[in-house]
Amino acid sequence: MNKDEIMSLQDQYVLHTYNRDTILVRGEGSYVWDIDGRKYIDLTVGIGVCNLGHCYPRVTKALQEQAAKLLHVSNLFINELQPQLAAKIAKHSFGGKVFFCNSGAEANEGLIKFARKWGNPNGRNEIIAMDNSFHGRTLATLAATGRAKYRAGFQPDMQGFQFATFNDLESVKALISDKTAAVICEPVQGEGGVIPATKDFLVGLRKLCDEKGILLLFDEVQCGMGRTGRAFAHQHYGIEPDAMSMAKALGNGVPLAAFEVQQKYADVLQPGMHASTFGGTPIACSAGLAVFDAFDYDGVLDNATQMGEYFRTKLNALKEKYPVIREVRGLGCMIGVDVGDSVKAIFSACRANGLLVLTAGETAIRLMPALTITKETADEALALFEKALA
Ligand SMILES: *Cc1c(COP(=O)(O)O)cnc(C)c1O
Repeated sequence: MNKDEIMSLQDQYVLHTYNRDTILVRGEGSYVWDIDGRKYIDLTVGIGVCNLGHCYPRVTKALQEQAAKLLHVSNLFINELQPQLAAKIAKHSFGGKVFFCNSGAEANEGLIKFARKWGNPNGRNEIIAMDNSFHGRTLATLAATGRAKYRAGFQPDMQGFQFATFNDLESVKALISDKTAAVICEPVQGEGGVIPATKDFLVGLRKLCDEKGILLLFDEVQCGMGRTGRAFAHQHYGIEPDAMSMAKALGNGVPLAAFEVQQKYADVLQPGMHASTFGGTPIACSAGLAVFDAFDYDGVLDNATQMGEYFRTKLNALKEKYPVIREVRGLGCMIGVDVGDSVKAIFSACRANGLLVLTAGETAIRLMPALTITKETADEALALFEKALA
């Protein structure tokens, strides 16, 4: 089918919930190609989904083999891959227990249900979330999202959420009552502008939740799965949550998400209390296992740390040269470049130059390179970025 025919079907039959115009047809590593054969360097990797790069060979091979063996059996049966993947997640985090689902919002819904189930016997069912956060587009996760523009028009908001100021421990303290069940936050805010939690804040939150006897929940949907150079972003801070969600890069492009709770909470959710038809299918888990193999055997996390450093060093050098850059921030390969009002112009100039980037918050260009990106490709991308700045 040619481009005009596709665009015509798009206009006629696909709901216009996204503004988009580029048709991408192929990807390999840090590169994608559009329908006209034009090549782009992709620093979006599916909004932090294809963290290993596009069509990572281990993942492709695992999917091909599993597709010929067993796709789906429902969660009425145990599939042999789910426990293996749960063990990998546990080994790379805090050794907890895992529930599988399909998207970030669904994983966060699970966290919210878990927190309410845990707290309700003691009259605790309110959750404190952060201003400027993003937790998803379902009704409960929207209610936990601290950016009013996403909720506009969908009222009434679901009850039971309050908002504190990210990186301001006192503001959280002020909201805690005997009805509070949990505090939820992203260790690095993604959609909000690539804003890492300060060490004082995250460590302070852990201490505060312990003192008050409430749960600390982390949304690692975007900052998890190696994005910051560690398997999960909170590991940079030397603390653990009571439970956390993960999604985006768990399947490197195959829908796969999960939430994990500490072993001591393993009995909160009992048989029949929570479920998901597509959660942790054999085909999805085969991708997830291949992703952890890449962490374990391909040096992906070290490369993410090194390349993240490299990007930030080079971007800080550009900051000296181009005053439009107000700040370079982030952790590992989750990078924000604050450019004030110039976001749209720089975003478009990057696209025109063959460089795909993201925006975040109102003023940041967000760079999410593949964790496998080479120095050569990074240099190529940085040159295109500089051209866009100029
Ligand atoms: C993307 C994202 C979500 C929502 O994930 P979906 O898969 O789109 O439902 C939730 N939390 C954070 C931090 C995210 O970045």
